[in-house]
Order: sequence, then C-alpha cells, then structure tokens
Amino acid sequence: MQEDLKTFIEIANKLFEDEQHNPVVFPINPNELSQHIDLTLNDNPIAYNEFLETLTKLVLQTPKTSSKLFFNQLFGGRQSKAVLGDLLSILLNNSMYTYKVAGPQIGVEKEIINKICNIVGYEDGSGGTFTVGGSMSNFMGMLMARDAANLKIREQGFTKPLIAYTSIESHYSIIKSASFIGMGKNNLRFISTNEKGEMLTSELEKQILEDIANGYTPFFVNATAGTTVLGVFDPIDEISKVCKRYNLWLHVDGAYCGGVIFSKKHKSLINGLEKSDSFNFNAHKMLGTPLVCSVIVVKNKKHLYNSFSVDADYLYQTDGDDFNLGKTSFQCGRKNEALKLWTLWKSVGTFGLEKMVNHLFDLSKFAYEYVNKHPDYTVYSSGNSLSICFNYKGIDASNLCTALYEDAKLVVGFGNFREDKFIRLVTVNANNTEADILNFFKELEGYVDSNELTLRTIKKVVS
Ligand SMILES: *Cc1c(COP(=O)(O)O)cnc(C)c1O
Repeated sequence: MQEDLKTFIEIANKLFEDEQHNPVVFPINPNELSQHIDLTLNDNPIAYNEFLETLTKLVLQTPKTSSKLFFNQLFGGRQSKAVLGDLLSILLNNSMYTYKVAGPQIGVEKEIINKICNIVGYEDGSGGTFTVGGSMSNFMGMLMARDAANLKIREQGFTKPLIAYTSIESHYSIIKSASFIGMGKNNLRFISTNEKGEMLTSELEKQILEDIANGYTPFFVNATAGTTVLGVFDPIDEISKVCKRYNLWLHVDGAYCGGVIFSKKHKSLINGLEKSDSFNFNAHKMLGTPLVCSVIVVKNKKHLYNSFSVDADYLYQTDGDDFNLGKTSFQCGRKNEALKLWTLWKSVGTFGLEKMVNHLFDLSKFAYEYVNKHPDYTVYSSGNSLSICFNYKGIDASNLCTALYEDAKLVVGFGNFREDKFIRLVTVNANNTEADILNFFKELEGYVDSNELTLRTIKKVVS
C-alpha cells in the first residue's frame, strides 16, 4: 500500500502542476480515444513503468473540474479538508449500515444530520440520511410522501392514482422519481412560473383544486431551492400554506442551493423551510466537497423507517436501530460520504461554511453586475442567484460554448428558459476570487473577438 500511496502523491503533484498550466484539457474525440490512451484490459499484467505512464496520461487528459476555468456544472473546485476526509473514508472502507462495522463513523453521520435538522428548524423526532445524490434524495422524499399518503401502497401497490406537483423549471429527477415510485409520470403536474422562473403558487392551488374536482388525490409538492438552470428559489413559505390547506407533503429540493441554510445573510431565500416535510441538499455543489455528498432530512423520522426499513437478521445483529443506519437508507452496503463533510465542517466551523456560502453569493453579484453594466451582454437571470445567464454580442450560446470547449479555452454550459437560450455561468467554486471571474469574461471576450466571424457563420449553418 505504501508504494501505491507514493505513486498517488506523485500523480497528484503532476495533476496540480498541470492544472496551473493547462486549466482546460483539449477534448479527445470519443471515437479516437483508443489512439490516445491505452485503455484496453489484457490477459497479461502490464510492466510497472508502462502502467504508471498510462495512468498518469489518463489522469492528465481527464477534464479538470477543479481548475479555475471550469464552470460547466453545479460543482467545482477542491476543498482540501473535505478531500482529506474522503481519502480516509476510502482507506477505512466501512459500510454505513451498522454500528458494528462503522463504529464512530455512525456518530459522524448522526452529528451532521442532527446539526442540519437543527439549522433547518426541524424539531425533536426529525432525522435523515446521506444518499447517493440529489436525484436519490428526491426519490426518497417522494417515496416517503407516497407511503405517508397511504401506507398500504407498500403491500398492495396503487389502487387509485395519486397526484404530485412540481414547477416546470424543476430538476428532471422529479420526473424519473414519479415513474420509480409507481405513481406514473402522467400524474405529475408541471406548474408554471413567473418571469424569474419561480413557481406560481396561485397556479399550484388552481391545479390542485381542479384535480380534486376531477376526483383525483393530490399528495405531494416539490419546491426547488435553486433551480438547475436559473438558480432561483420557489416561494417555500407560500407553497407551505397551500400544502397545509390540502394536507400535502412538501419536499424542498435544495440539491443546488440548499447550502444557503448556512448563511444568515441569504437565508431569507428559503423562508418557511422549517414547514417542509423533507429537504435535501448537495454538499458537493455549494460546499465544494468531492462527489457525492448529499443529505436528505425529514421532519418526522418515522417516515424513513416506514419506507426504508425491512428486518434482516443476517445484517442487524447488534446495537439499537438508532445506530444501525441501514434501517433508514435505500442501499445496503453504503460508502461513508459523511466523513468528508465532517472534516470540512470541523476544520472551518459553521461560521466557515457560512463564509463560503456568502462568498459564492458575492461572486455571483460581481458577475451579475459585470454583465449587466456591459453593453455587449444580454442578461437573462435576475440577480440574487448563483447562476448568471447571458449572451455575448448576440452569439448563439451553444455554438460559443462548444467552440470554447473544443479549443480548450473555457468549460461552461448553456441553458434555456422559455424561448431564450443563453450561457450559464455558475459561481459554485469557493476557491475562486473576483479576479478569476473577471478572467472568465476576459477569456470569453478575447475568444469571441478573434473568432467572431466563424462563430456567426456556424450560427447561420446551424439555424
Ligand atoms: C443537481 C441537482 C439535482 C441532482 O443531484 P445529483 O446529485 O446530481 O443527483 C437535483 N435537483 C437539483 C435542483 C439539482 O440542481
């Protein structure tokens, strides 16, 4: 093992150096992958030097999500204390289903869950679990809501349809979950939004009343804290009142921006969160831990047991349910995803997390003001969001993003809202400074100014 750890450090150092000089890798055409790196698996072992060379090459040719020019997804950067925790969890290799095999690591996960329940404003009797991501968290929230509406569905399946509601701007995992839990995608209603992209509560209530009038049974509403494209927040407090009126489960999908719970300054964006029944957030997005680090908390933990606990004598042989976390998780064997958040949180404190979150909002404000003031930019987002959406000089966003990627200048993506297509810059990397954001714009502008003609010609060909 010692030898391999040495190798790890060697490769890591090469990667860190390469990140400085080549922050964006030249993409390899997927059809030519085999010509660039030998990925084949063979009958005979490979010589060590060759192994090392191939592995290093593979690492250096992989897209660099921690570089200062990566803005493509809702994660980026590297929080080193979190990486440390994750590396240790790999060495320890526990599985989080029982206290017998995970010991104090169970305490680590429980401490985080308790703390988050507290911050959210859930009272005694609340609970939660780490999941394999926001999609899984949404699925679990929806499943608990289904069983809370009718516990017999677990045994008998659906005897009558149940109806769920989400905004048209919500994440596609809500659609997947609707099919996974057996309610059927056709029984998911998409509620329209205002011009900022926030769910219209009046439309939600109208749709609920219409469904009730037609003899259907509503059971679940998903509100989003940070929609995937525009990064806006549905009005949780207003939505919670509707949910209360019709006795519906309120789930808040905070996968993207749920980390805002740590910021006193920006917490008003999630007003009413304590009235929700379940809430999830991805620490691997706003808090910068390695993927995946996702938590779902629930106001009343009995729902976790109702939906996810099945007795298994071959597994649960010691200690109480409270410490055998397999009773409240989807998986059986489960990687320890808690330690990386704990090492980060422990090292910087809750105030440190708050600072990170505030810094991300400061960066977004800086970027928003930059595009808003600059006459060559058209802006599509409304500020107070980690997503800054714009076009530059009216150039087609997908052409520009693809060209930037292919020429290894910048990694950034595009999105849609209603009729508009635009570049989406996200400020989710807390390692970045205002200078890095400025550098993003300079790279983009410099590229466009020297390739404008081509970019416009491609546009003509495409459209
Ligand atoms: C990213 C995201 C998800 C999905 O989370 P994964 O961890 O990628 O599965 C769900 N909802 C929203 C709003 C997201 O932005």
